[in-house]
Amino acid sequence: MLFIPSSIFQPQSIHPIWAMQKNITIDVLRTDKVHPVISGNKWFKLQHHIKDCQLKGYKKLLTFGGAYSNHIVATAFATKIADIESLGIIRGEENTLTPSHTLQQARDYGMQLTFVTRENYKDFNRIVTKYPEYYVVKEGGYGILGAQGAMDMLQKIPNNKDYTHIFTAVGTGTTLAGIIQAAKPHQKIIGISVMKNNHSLLEAVSKILKKKNSYKNYSIDHEFHFGGYAKKTKNLINFMNNFYEETNIPTDFVYTAKAAFAIRTKIELGEIPNYSKILFIHTGGLQGNLSLPQKTLVY
Ligand SMILES: *Cc1c(COP(=O)(O)O)cnc(C)c1O
Repeated sequence: MLFIPSSIFQPQSIHPIWAMQKNITIDVLRTDKVHPVISGNKWFKLQHHIKDCQLKGYKKLLTFGGAYSNHIVATAFATKIADIESLGIIRGEENTLTPSHTLQQARDYGMQLTFVTRENYKDFNRIVTKYPEYYVVKEGGYGILGAQGAMDMLQKIPNNKDYTHIFTAVGTGTTLAGIIQAAKPHQKIIGISVMKNNHSLLEAVSKILKKKNSYKNYSIDHEFHFGGYAKKTKNLINFMNNFYEETNIPTDFVYTAKAAFAIRTKIELGEIPNYSKILFIHTGGLQGNLSLPQKTLVY
């Protein structure tokens, strides 16, 4: 339904000195190349939601997010392609003077937006009962169907069994849950939480794993949030520029830069054994860098 070129599934090898020194290889799954605006992982997560929506005969779909949500834009775009009407329930008051780039883009793709206070936003059930004719997708595409899309993503990689470690940035944990389900028993999956102290994540992940899944070789690291969601430091920005110069891979400051920074740190600390083969899932999100002052980044 949503088109994905097969070349995406051929990971790109990178050779930063800090990995080569330890004979560690790093391959990057460039889902950022799926689309210039839509985060790659959002695209995958939405696939099964959209299919289910169509299968159940809904003509309209609603979902949730903040003013800077990559998921909102992705849903606006995916529903447009699938010819489904979409509604975005946005957390917080509308800023009519300077609408965020994200919300403007969602509107351009034809999504209707409605704004609810932070207090009311929490009352999921009350909101969705107001829209019985809408198929509902949770914030961030969270859920079993979202995880299924992330699972497809890993399964399509040739030789995916060769990796010893798989890294991804974690927001809702949906992508991580999909990777866990697609992983082989010898692979260690490491999710890097981009939020500060979001310790409900493990439970959120295990809730959407299929019951049969007894795979336990995964962890979520909470040390790389750089101050919290969408927060950044000079150190992180410097890292992004260095990483780009070393590898030619652009990262975004909200998600993928934090995951890439974690990979380097863990290698330097000796937490990843020599001769490991790492797969880094680049989940996209590059348009988030548009909110940085010009010339912050070298790319
Ligand atoms: C949304 C997003 C994530 C987080 O994905 P989850 O499945 O919610 O954990 C990671 N990276 C990017 C670029 C994203 O946009």
